[in-house]
Amino acid sequence: MFTLPTTAQNIINTLQNKGFEAYAVGGSVRDTVMGIPTFGWDFTTNAPPQMILEIFPDSFYDNSFGTVGIKIYDGADKPVDIYEITTYRSEKGYSDFRHPDKIQWGTTLKEDLSRRDFTINAIATDGRTIVDPYHGMDDVREKMIRTVGVARDRLSEDALRCMRAVRIASQLGFMIEGDTLGAIRETSSLLTKISFERIRDELYKILASPHPADGVLLLKNTGLLHYILPELEACFGISQKSPKRHHIYDVGTHLVEALRACKSGDPVVRLATLLHDIGKAPTWRKDETTGIITFYNHEIIGARLIKEISQRLRLSRKDSQRLYILTRWHQFTVDERQTDSAIRRIIRRIGKENLSNMLDLRVADRLGGGARETSWRLELFKQRLEEVQIQPFSVSDLAVSGHDVMEILNVTPGPIVGKVLNALFAQVDSGTLQNDREILLKKIEDFK
Ligand code: ATP
Ligand code: MG
Repeated sequence: MFTLPTTAQNIINTLQNKGFEAYAVGGSVRDTVMGIPTFGWDFTTNAPPQMILEIFPDSFYDNSFGTVGIKIYDGADKPVDIYEITTYRSEKGYSDFRHPDKIQWGTTLKEDLSRRDFTINAIATDGRTIVDPYHGMDDVREKMIRTVGVARDRLSEDALRCMRAVRIASQLGFMIEGDTLGAIRETSSLLTKISFERIRDELYKILASPHPADGVLLLKNTGLLHYILPELEACFGISQKSPKRHHIYDVGTHLVEALRACKSGDPVVRLATLLHDIGKAPTWRKDETTGIITFYNHEIIGARLIKEISQRLRLSRKDSQRLYILTRWHQFTVDERQTDSAIRRIIRRIGKENLSNMLDLRVADRLGGGARETSWRLELFKQRLEEVQIQPFSVSDLAVSGHDVMEILNVTPGPIVGKVLNALFAQVDSGTLQNDREILLKKIEDFK
């Protein structure tokens, strides 16, 4: 037996003291059985929603299905967690493959557990006893994801469960049991009935998980990827092997391996890493005489696909923009002969705030292609990125202003002021003049 955290045990005790049954259930019980940290506890009870709201002062309706949320405080003003209490349910009939036709309140815990998706999510405990009719504890021990009941029936009731299976496998490093895996393959096309918002939420969780690359391969091998990112699916089998060129993987495998190597935990950076060469499938060309394969303009075509993907997956504006920038400009050159201005142009395009993410993508790209993590060139480039940022980027970064120009030259505001500042900036930018106030003030005298 394991101990529940006091906050969770208190909720159960409170409901039991009022004469109701109450159990913790779902992901947090599963995580606790595994001995890993967890949050967002879920509870199930025979108390009706209205009663739960009355019993807990910090509770509120969390969705339209009668789930009640409870804010959990830890001394501070802001809640540190939200727990959810749901009244026993028995859901029957999913004619649209998404929502139960009618939510029916169940009368028993057993009934409630029977409508849950996987055995590992159908373990209930009140802190004293464990109720586990589907042997979820055994499956946790065996690291196995298995549906409650007949896999095909349960997955066709609600196709989001297919995504949840892959997501939980990626988060926990579990296997999907054979019948369940087969049923995901058979029912994958039902994913078209699920909204892209919900698919995106699961995809983000897969990307942010400890095993994102295995998750994406599972999506591919079950056929789910076809309905989420067909552009990525098309990259598998696209050869990049040209004579004398070093390419060990096809495009799709390279993208998955780059994702595996990505050091950023940010799902958007990971998505950009996974999709950075997506334009290679439609731009693949092979010269029959030389055998040379090219992907002319692949980053431009890729960027167009990225916009479509962002819309399809209903990404937020901010996420779409970052995804676009990281993929559109991922091919920046790293060359010791680059001028400072060329490096500054790269920084301006990518944006200072995205630079470290772009470097994460580059390192992942290298590792995912079988190269070493870095090279002296890349290290030198990183150093120069820092150096050029210390230097001014625009006229407004100069150590002197228009006021100085007007005062020294004794002129009123007019085009001459801009001309002088631009002339100074050109020299500072090219490195022939130092951005030092005293030096620049003297230099202004020359324009008299
Ligand atoms: P996480 O909190 O990390 O998303 P979780 O397993 O707790 O993982 P929730 O979405 O919080 O998932 O759902 C809580 C529980 O509700 C699940 O563990 C499962 O028992 C049940 N559940 C959630 N979604 C479904 C579904 N689509 N079909 C059947 N049961 C579900
Ligand atoms: Mg949960």
